[in-house]
Amino acid sequence: MRKHELDLLANAVDSFNEALAKYRVAEGGDVTAYKFAIIHFAHFLELLFKYYVTQSHPLLIYKNPFAKDVERQQTIGLWEAVQFLRNEGHVIAPEFQKDLEWLKKLRNSIEHYKFTMELREVRFTLGRLTQALLEFNDYIADFDIRDHIDSNNLGVFETLSDEYKAEVAAAQKQAEEESETDQAESCLYCGNDTAALIEKTYKCFYCQEEDPILECCVCGCDERRYNMSLWNDEHEDYICEGCEDRISNM
Ligand SMILES: [Zn+2]
Ligand SMILES: [Zn+2]
Repeated sequence: MRKHELDLLANAVDSFNEALAKYRVAEGGDVTAYKFAIIHFAHFLELLFKYYVTQSHPLLIYKNPFAKDVERQQTIGLWEAVQFLRNEGHVIAPEFQKDLEWLKKLRNSIEHYKFTMELREVRFTLGRLTQALLEFNDYIADFDIRDHIDSNNLGVFETLSDEYKAEVAAAQKQAEEESETDQAESCLYCGNDTAALIEKTYKCFYCQEEDPILECCVCGCDERRYNMSLWNDEHEDYICEGCEDRISNM
């Protein structure tokens, strides 16, 4: 590897670690840190894709590699890098491209102070991007990103890179924010702590099930519908387990 290729790679993984560190801070409660996580993440992806291009030839980092004063030429951008890799015959999945575009757009809106973001979308998309780029990196790159993650960032990296874990973690966070109890409640359908209690209904942000609290048609106690049985179809009456046991043993 030539020196500027090494620099490119080193800067890329530095940005990734910065992004992960900020994401960690954001998940810890300082929501403003998401902004910096996004900026670093976008920078990381741009450098990484440029690096992929230089794997074919180091001079391809420049928009005009044929110029005399090549070192002073402008370097390529993310979309040029993406197109180059496509022209080389590599497949970049449309969903991956869509997420890249989303991140770039969000990153630009931060720069221009027109910044609004859905935290749930940020968490899901950064998770998807991490998984997609790991897969793509394994296929195209001559190094493994996993070897470059700072030990402090390993936890958040694992969460982002595991689709299921990332979605459950994002859903749990949303449940915490929306629940009237100020904490994530357990969903009896999927077994995760990803439900919020909103107006007497447990709503799961992972599996999307809704579990209302109903009154037992016999004893009048409040119970989650999941734990009750339908007693009368016509009136949608539900009965609690205790009453059902009692009646069926009479
Ligand atoms: Zn659930
Ligand atoms: Zn009852």
